[in-house]
Amino acid sequence: TVRTRFAPSPTGFLHIGGARTALFAWAYARRHGGQFVLRIEDTDVARSTPEAVQAILDGMQWLGLEADEGPFYQMQRMARYKEVIGQMLAAGTAYHCYTSREELDALRAEQEARKEKPRYDGRWRPEPGKVLPEPPAGVQPVVRFRNPTEGVVAWDDQVKGRIEIANAEMDDFIIARADGTPTYNFCVVVDDWDMRITHVLRGDDHVNNTPRQINVLRALGAEVPLYGHLSMILGDDGTKLSKRHGAVSVMQYDEDGYLPEAVINYLARLGWSHGDDEIFSREQFVEWFDLDHITPSAAQFNTEKLNWLNAHYIKQADNARLAGEVASRLARRGVNPEAGPALEAVVALYKERVSNLNELADAVELFVVDVHAAPEVLGQHLTEAARAALASLRARLAAAPWDKAAISQAIKDTMAEHGLKMPQVAIPLRVALLGVPQTPSIDAVVEVLGREVVLQRLDRHL
Ligand code: GLU
Repeated sequence: TVRTRFAPSPTGFLHIGGARTALFAWAYARRHGGQFVLRIEDTDVARSTPEAVQAILDGMQWLGLEADEGPFYQMQRMARYKEVIGQMLAAGTAYHCYTSREELDALRAEQEARKEKPRYDGRWRPEPGKVLPEPPAGVQPVVRFRNPTEGVVAWDDQVKGRIEIANAEMDDFIIARADGTPTYNFCVVVDDWDMRITHVLRGDDHVNNTPRQINVLRALGAEVPLYGHLSMILGDDGTKLSKRHGAVSVMQYDEDGYLPEAVINYLARLGWSHGDDEIFSREQFVEWFDLDHITPSAAQFNTEKLNWLNAHYIKQADNARLAGEVASRLARRGVNPEAGPALEAVVALYKERVSNLNELADAVELFVVDVHAAPEVLGQHLTEAARAALASLRARLAAAPWDKAAISQAIKDTMAEHGLKMPQVAIPLRVALLGVPQTPSIDAVVEVLGREVVLQRLDRHL
């Protein structure tokens, strides 16, 4: 069965590139009825933080990328890595190396002088018939992997196509440091093996690690998974995506008013395609997702498209859910969401007009808090004539049955009485009620605000 994994290093937030990797690995497992494993690669203790772990878990939860297994933490698997290192030493696929820092520096200098690529020269590598020096007293050795010296490592990368590296290009890399701690490339191998990973989907910054990892897996007699290296994501301007491009952490998108399904849909199309389809659900994505249609070239981030998708999903969203989103946003602004009309009715008026939840909250806020338009706005719109019309409208609204038809009739009667056109009544009315000259259909706004609030807000201008 298919088993994929997402293996973030908790050294920062879950950023958008990581989220896409997670989405693809998750979707591939779902597509094939397999399992998706979450593994936290926290061996870089200096840079890993519990906050970053939490941010990753939060981001995955927000996106709905649920792991079937894990999170596993590499720091909790140290004993296992050491056990495998012991087995490799015993099997002769790894060996102790006592070369000191000074010796390595000297070696490097010689190689550079000869214009050669710096590499370990295998001086402690056991060979049949080779006599190794006496281990120097008091030196803790590192452990090196005994990399094959001949042949090539090749794999059919699921994204990039066939990749081949000659073993002669690789030296015997360190798998355990002098203090006994295993190195990154080694932990990944043991984990992918123990976790029975069948498909490794990850960023292409790891392409160079793959041949080494394959060699170690072979030395362990492990089955080698398939690898697919995803190209990086560029910002709107074609440069490497970074903080300059605005939100890069997944949770920042939540804060910025995006719905998770919009972000998921957006990420799904970032470097993968299904014909011309742009809008599709998570379920549809799982059904369609394959590795053949991942684009090998870098994908460019497009904020406008994300905004367009977000507007689409807000339009589709259930009013109760939008009301909940708006309520928590208002509460964070210090506005009591229960102080005004029912939020569900208000969001229904605006959901087709906004492209993010913060904009929606801005609009709703005008219904909840008592707005005071700027004096210039009042001066411009609430002329003598407008006030006279609003006064007679007020009298009509005080007596009208409270539904849209009756409200609309009251406005029309007022227009007729004062010889005014629709905007000459509607715009001052909007300014008086909500402080802004533009709103959705005025009769709907009046209805939703409720009689009490409408009369109150009119009164302070009359
Ligand atoms: N921990 C690595 C990273 O965050 C991923 C390693 C892997 O997927 O093999 O980039």
